[in-house]
Amino acid sequence: MRMTRYFLPVLKETPSEAQIVSHRLMLRAGMIKQSSAGIYSWLPLGYKVLKNIEYIVHEEQARAGHMAMLMPTIQSADLWRESGRYDDYGEEMLRIKDRHDRDMLFTPTAEELITDIFRAHVSSYKDMPLTMYQIQWKFRDERRPRFGVMRGREFYMKDGYNFDLTKEDAMHAYNRHLVSYLRTYERMGLQAIPMRADSGPIGGDDTHEFLVLAETGESEVFYDSAVTDLTFGDREIDYDDKAQCAGVMEEFTTKYARTDETHDEALFNEVPEERRKVARGIEVGQIFYFGTKYSDALGATVQGPDGKPVAVHMGSHGIGVSRLLGAIIEASHDDKGIIWPEGVTPFHVGIVNLKQGDDEADAACESLYAQIEALGLEPLYDDRNERAGGKFATMDLIGLPWRITVGPRGLKNGVVELTSRKTGESEELAPDAAIAKIAAIYGKA
Ligand code: ATP
Ligand code: MG
Repeated sequence: MRMTRYFLPVLKETPSEAQIVSHRLMLRAGMIKQSSAGIYSWLPLGYKVLKNIEYIVHEEQARAGHMAMLMPTIQSADLWRESGRYDDYGEEMLRIKDRHDRDMLFTPTAEELITDIFRAHVSSYKDMPLTMYQIQWKFRDERRPRFGVMRGREFYMKDGYNFDLTKEDAMHAYNRHLVSYLRTYERMGLQAIPMRADSGPIGGDDTHEFLVLAETGESEVFYDSAVTDLTFGDREIDYDDKAQCAGVMEEFTTKYARTDETHDEALFNEVPEERRKVARGIEVGQIFYFGTKYSDALGATVQGPDGKPVAVHMGSHGIGVSRLLGAIIEASHDDKGIIWPEGVTPFHVGIVNLKQGDDEADAACESLYAQIEALGLEPLYDDRNERAGGKFATMDLIGLPWRITVGPRGLKNGVVELTSRKTGESEELAPDAAIAKIAAIYGKA
């Protein structure tokens, strides 16, 4: 993409309505525009990152053996009356009437709808286990929408649902989700710590939230600092292996880590004092096991191996896809702007031409642009007629992890400059060597 053709409405001024850094930077970098309270348009740069995050979520769900599907955003109230949640959900639910005066609603979550699909089509234990998920817009009429996409009213969420014959199988699904979430967040450059949580209106027995530590987080958290040493890394996992998944679960959830809802001071005090931490965190996901709550309410039973009807065991599992943009920026920025992790960056490399209109500089930039594209990567070429300072400021603000700077002086010596956004370190390299390095960084070598 060439900057002169791109819609990138960056703001010079810091928007006064934004209280936290991620919201400020998303507005300044021209990623989103508020359309009404807690509801945003996703401008090209923001949309690109949203899609990159979505893509990682899809890849990791597929790896875990979960099937993607899509359910509607507008649902009939009938199913929600059947489960009893139409009244329970309260003012957070956006209620709509259609032209026939029928009660409809904008989905805040989809346990009822997926259970209805299940009960219509699955009648035997032989068709189980089953785990399906969607990535779909949700609406919750939050009392205090704030912090930009972190607490929106309309937001993009991955919600997955498992149907199992026994509690044991359902716990395997729970563990599988835990493992897949650990991998998902790590690929986005985030450490998200599973913490014992409270189930809230979804209801249920077992639940963990995944929290990214950040001063601006809305949740108060209590943990043993040893949990921050745990990483999943690139280890192999067989998602069908119950014991392996349970092992990871145990490894990541045995040490003390809880949100304020489930915090237990006496238990916390058993952690050695120097490792006892109280901090704030951003909730980027949650997994639930809730047994037969919805299958009982909605009559989702199957014929078991002995021919008798069995209520299915269920769980639901969410990732805050749009909230993750905010969380990633909170975790990765500096005074100049965003610093995207390579896994989610909107463009892989920025190219800055120090002297637009200089034949040699223009040709070198075009050549780099073509070579980066040929690697299957996306460059963003700042081809504007602007001062170098302005170009650097824009690149730093929008946070591309790598920048290649091209100018007549360097070209005389046969070099361009490759700069890391994260460390600020620059290296002078022949253009071919810069391309080779980019290829290696993104695994295209
Ligand atoms: P919260 O406690 O933050 O209100 P929740 O526990 O009600 O969230 P879940 O039902 O667990 O939310 O939804 C799954 C994920 O969706 C959450 O972990 C969070 O990352 C994201 N999410 C929930 N509400 C919002 C919102 N209003 N705006 C953006 N993301 C949200
Ligand atoms: Mg939650």
